[in-house]
Amino acid sequence: MMQIFIPLNFLGFVYREMKGALANIEKMFSLLTVKPAVEDAEDAAELQVLEGRIEFDAVRFGYRENREILRGVSFTVEPQQKVAIVGASGAGKSTLFKLLFRFYDVDGGRILVDGQDIRSVSQDSLRRAVGVVPQDAVLFNQSILENVRYGRVDASDEEVMEAIRHAQLYDFVQQLPEGVDTMVGERGLKLSGGEKQRVAIARALLKRPPIMVFDEATSSLDSRSEQGILQSLREIAREQTTLVIAHRLSTVVDADVILVMEQGRIVEQGSHGELLEQNGHYATLWRLQQQERRQEAAA
Ligand code: ATP
Repeated sequence: MMQIFIPLNFLGFVYREMKGALANIEKMFSLLTVKPAVEDAEDAAELQVLEGRIEFDAVRFGYRENREILRGVSFTVEPQQKVAIVGASGAGKSTLFKLLFRFYDVDGGRILVDGQDIRSVSQDSLRRAVGVVPQDAVLFNQSILENVRYGRVDASDEEVMEAIRHAQLYDFVQQLPEGVDTMVGERGLKLSGGEKQRVAIARALLKRPPIMVFDEATSSLDSRSEQGILQSLREIAREQTTLVIAHRLSTVVDADVILVMEQGRIVEQGSHGELLEQNGHYATLWRLQQQERRQEAAA
């Protein structure tokens, strides 16, 4: 009986895995039919990052013909600046990130990193220069220490520990039964959204690419987690050019420049104070979010 049970159970597992994989392949093909995969130019050079300046120059882009998502987007992120992008869902914020990684080529305009058009450099060198902190970090069935080490596989234990401290993960890790050796992932300890994002930040701190893009988690965080993330984000932004898709007021207030996106355009840009003074879209968004905060606090 056992002999039959185990293989069937295993087959169930294989089936689920296969189905997941097929769904991903389907997704990949549906993407490929929309736009051809980006290829390196024959004479592609290595990207040379000296300062980390990013320029979007009149960028136009659509995933499909007849539906433009970005309609002439221009902005510059100066070296080591922290720029926050805000705007309603669907405004095109993540699309900016995908184009900076060159998952797709622009339909018009250009994107420059330290003066080099990203279409003229190898994708490898571009992706080495740009680090990403996603909303939902993937955790492997390994210890926290090993999970953070994925940021730079040849990093020493000391370097990994330093990244853990700078990502404000140390206090959390210390409370765990086996400290940094505690297993996480599907079969280990489950981490909250905020904790996972701090693991991603620790990886990014270990990699220290000159340009960092950060997709702030939309999931609600307790104020300690929020403060932790903010502190570690400051740590990243101190030395690196940082672009953040921001959902939280705390992140936005802190930024050197805030870009306000609406339907594929940047409709306002400036510091928090400047934008409040303009009393436009941002000021309205700010008042709404503050109202929500007060309601949440009262509930
Ligand atoms: P959110 O805050 O909800 O993440 P966003 O501002 O980041 O939104 P994008 O994800 O950039 O918005 O999406 C902009 C538009 O592009 C949306 O209308 C979306 O449906 C469309 N879009 C995004 N990805 C694809 C894709 N792979 N194929 C086709 N359309 C897409």
